[in-house]
Amino acid sequence: MESTDNHINFCQTCKSLRLAEVSGKVDDSCSFISAELYKPSYYVPVNMGIGGGSYIEFKYCLDCGQIQGEFPIPIQCS
Ligand SMILES: [Zn+2]
Repeated sequence: MESTDNHINFCQTCKSLRLAEVSGKVDDSCSFISAELYKPSYYVPVNMGIGGGSYIEFKYCLDCGQIQGEFPIPIQCS
């Protein structure tokens, strides 16, 4: 998400410096399933904290597992 500050290099929850960054292009074959959103073989859903469109992009903490960004995610209606 745009709200994630890329200059912050420590975990927002436990302040660990052990962050990993994931980045990948899905080429229209992303599957995303949650309690309220089911999107098989499609694009990466936006506003879910993992990128959006053709790209999966997020950072997570190797100590506590926290995905960096703004959570909780609001309930999705589509
Ligand atoms: Zn952490």
